[in-house]
Amino acid sequence: MRIIVAAFEETLELGLQKPGQVVPMIPTFVFGWPTGQESGDYLALDLGGTNLRVCLVTLSGEGKFELTQTKYRLTEEQKQEDGSKLFDFCADCVAGFIRAHIGDKDGSIKEGQELALGFTFSYPCTQDRIDQGTLIRWTKGFGAPNVEGRDVAELFRNAMAKHHLPVTLTAIINDTTGALIASHYVNPRTKIGVIFGTGCNAAYMEKVEKIEKINHLNLLDEDPEAEIAINCEWGAFDSFVHQHLPRTKYDQIVDESSNKPGEQAFEKLIAGRYLGEIMRLVICDLIDEGVLFLGQNTYKIEIPYSFDTAFLSLMESDPTDELLTIIGLFTFFFGLETTLAERQFFRALSRLIGRRAARLSACGIAAIVSKKGYLDEGCAVAADGSLYSKYPGFADRVHEGLVDIFGVKGKNIVTHHAEDGSGVGSAIIAAMTKKRRDEQKFMKC
Ligand code: ADP
Ligand code: MG
Repeated sequence: MRIIVAAFEETLELGLQKPGQVVPMIPTFVFGWPTGQESGDYLALDLGGTNLRVCLVTLSGEGKFELTQTKYRLTEEQKQEDGSKLFDFCADCVAGFIRAHIGDKDGSIKEGQELALGFTFSYPCTQDRIDQGTLIRWTKGFGAPNVEGRDVAELFRNAMAKHHLPVTLTAIINDTTGALIASHYVNPRTKIGVIFGTGCNAAYMEKVEKIEKINHLNLLDEDPEAEIAINCEWGAFDSFVHQHLPRTKYDQIVDESSNKPGEQAFEKLIAGRYLGEIMRLVICDLIDEGVLFLGQNTYKIEIPYSFDTAFLSLMESDPTDELLTIIGLFTFFFGLETTLAERQFFRALSRLIGRRAARLSACGIAAIVSKKGYLDEGCAVAADGSLYSKYPGFADRVHEGLVDIFGVKGKNIVTHHAEDGSGVGSAIIAAMTKKRRDEQKFMKC
């Protein structure tokens, strides 16, 4: 793990020095930490890997906020359809949300009110300004054509224009940066934000003087102490070269049969989209070897991605000696009978897959901690995503990993469930950006 951490740290450095690196270390143009006094009404649109959400966030300062939201499920087809359709759907959802909440009984959106919108678009984008973002590549199983290489802010604005709404897109935000900022708003000890959801990623605050690749923007002339939040996009660590992370043959199959072979090497060992699939591939391998489910019809479990990562959580938390949850899971979803020994094996396997994911995640966190020198004074790490919040013991395993890497000092680094970064974080960043513009700071960004 320490060897992985060292390589990870070097990779992070490289991404700050030069543009176009595998781990792109993207400056987000979120300048510095929130004060905690940000206030007002803001809209947030969150295009995650699994859901689309529209939120109205009311910030009331002193680290306090209220949130109203509507969730829409994204279908697999929508992730692959032409990009214009995807953005039309986003705009339709925002329009529907506003119509439903204008002058409703809570009076949450007032007639004629102009609203700033933060768009949480959690895919790697390069940004020259905070209200622009060019998609580098889709991740998390998205493939919608005609979006890679284009400005998603413009695509979204075009879709929104059809609805004539009093909404201004103020910032393109990554959920990771959102989690970092939203959690710092309520707990200033927070120094790192991480996501363990469909994908995995991290963000932290970096001194502009250390980000060599943006020297040409001359930001230090305006403020020599300036800091910018960095969206690491660390899911790409070890992509293509596969030099640092040990992979099993199942990891290789996940990679080769994905829509982006070679890419997101770190993410494919960790994230919610893939853990269930790794488990399924092990099971299918044993079926092929004639070890499991002899004489039973196994076609359901042979369908790629039919084994949700949530099943690993269920299996790990089965409290019964007979492992009744696992019986139910296999009969209900896959029409398969299991023996007790098989169920115990499945549970052991899910522990292995979940534990590896958590320990590799600890390596990533450790790389940032070590790079920033946070170990002695300690820091809080805000973590979001279903894998972190719902997978039993995930956080404990990350902490255990940090102690294995750093020794007892590793206990100074504590993860906690993040505030809603994609909603609240997006709103705070919209507020910070508005204030910065009013103060005429870093106007080019
Ligand atoms: P998003 O990435 O869209 O923001 P989430 O943070 O909810 O969404 O993450 C969704 C991912 O989490 C999916 O890959 C899903 O398989 C996984 N997941 C959902 N529920 C659980 C659970 N109980 N345990 C582990 N993983 C889960
Ligand atoms: Mg999310």
